[in-house]
Amino acid sequence: MSIKVIVGTQWGDEGKGKIVDLLSAEADIVARYNGGPNAGHTVVIDGQEIVLHLVPCGVLREGVVCVIGNGVVVDPLLLRHEVVMLGSLGVKVEGRLWVSERAHLILPCHVRYEQVKEHTNAGAIGTTLRGIGPAYADKMERQGLRVGEAREPAQLRAKLERLEGQKNRLLQALFGAAAVPPAAVDAYLAAVAPVVPMIADTTVLLHRALAQGKRILAEGAQGTLLDIDHGTYPYVTSSSCVSGGASTGLGVPPTAIAEVIGVTKAYTTRVGNGPLPTEFVGEEGQRLRDLGREYGATTGRPRRCGWLDLMAVRYAVRVNGVSELAVTKLDVLDSLEQIEVCTAYEIDGERTLEFPADVTALGRVKPVYVALPGWQTPLGQVRRFQDLPHNTRRYLEFMEEQTGAAVGIVSVGPGREQTIFR
Ligand code: GDP
Repeated sequence: MSIKVIVGTQWGDEGKGKIVDLLSAEADIVARYNGGPNAGHTVVIDGQEIVLHLVPCGVLREGVVCVIGNGVVVDPLLLRHEVVMLGSLGVKVEGRLWVSERAHLILPCHVRYEQVKEHTNAGAIGTTLRGIGPAYADKMERQGLRVGEAREPAQLRAKLERLEGQKNRLLQALFGAAAVPPAAVDAYLAAVAPVVPMIADTTVLLHRALAQGKRILAEGAQGTLLDIDHGTYPYVTSSSCVSGGASTGLGVPPTAIAEVIGVTKAYTTRVGNGPLPTEFVGEEGQRLRDLGREYGATTGRPRRCGWLDLMAVRYAVRVNGVSELAVTKLDVLDSLEQIEVCTAYEIDGERTLEFPADVTALGRVKPVYVALPGWQTPLGQVRRFQDLPHNTRRYLEFMEEQTGAAVGIVSVGPGREQTIFR
């Protein structure tokens, strides 16, 4: 039994794409277990940047089979777009990309509903406006449409039209918004047809692979602090990002998970609204944003930046059962003279080491920082752990001491080769 789960230990955008791409060199199957096209996993190969939203990053390795699991929500229009983009790069998906028949479809009304709601609601979450939340809501309300239903186009159309009608009435009543035009339904159904040959019972596929001793990578999207249950609710995404989500989102037993790799950026970023205790105010944030090119891969939005928050990472290590950390973007800190790291919070005058469940409490915390010396040396060419500057190793060891998880992978640049395996 060999499943390795790749999970984000912060607020997403930790660089999971690169780590999944690297580890997929040693995998037979890469399976996405949560989220939808709100993810933007960036892989850089020979200087070329490829952004994947739905298709697992393993697709870029020849011979690797890719699965979009039942825990994912699928927009066929965007999937088609991605398959065409991959085709233009010479990457074929036929016969090696499988979409779970249990995965739910993101419908035109879901996209429209989210866009109208986010623009009218004072409590906007700051979502990617791609209909992810409403699609999961309909799944939970047991009225969603599943990918497997695409096999029966006439029935799918009837169900789709009924749901679209219902949502249009809701949009009109709640927000006075205009209906989704019927032409959108036709365009949508046209995009569903090419998905049909990719539909499979991916749970069966994965169970067979496990029985044959194949190596499976479970690719998480977003991060632990955006998890629907364990994140900073309500400023979260609508799916189970944590390692447990790999079990429910793929239909594989938790006992089949052998390893959990926690991808951790050397500092903190967040897209969207909600508290971010170590957030920079002013110029520091802009400096790091520019050094780390911290602009969303899906929306292009500037990411909020801050110092490494070990309260968040320590919490994520526990929730996910992280067996090893993959620390990314360490090179972004190259020029800093001093680096601060948050090791505890003060809430209402009391010091705590536990990450608060309540988002209003999190909004009130004062981070307690430890200052560590910077290394002021470019790391991009370093390939061996022992060749890292003393202060860089100190920084990584501090992360280990504070989180209880060992650092197994260090990333010092976006390229595949800019990686140190310990
Ligand atoms: P993901 O959603 O977790 O996969 O993260 P993203 O792909 O949105 O963001 C990571 C970005 O950082 C991408 O543009 C990567 O190419 C880039 N990246 C990944 N690792 C490193 C690294 O070690 N150093 C630098 N400078 N960039 C990196």
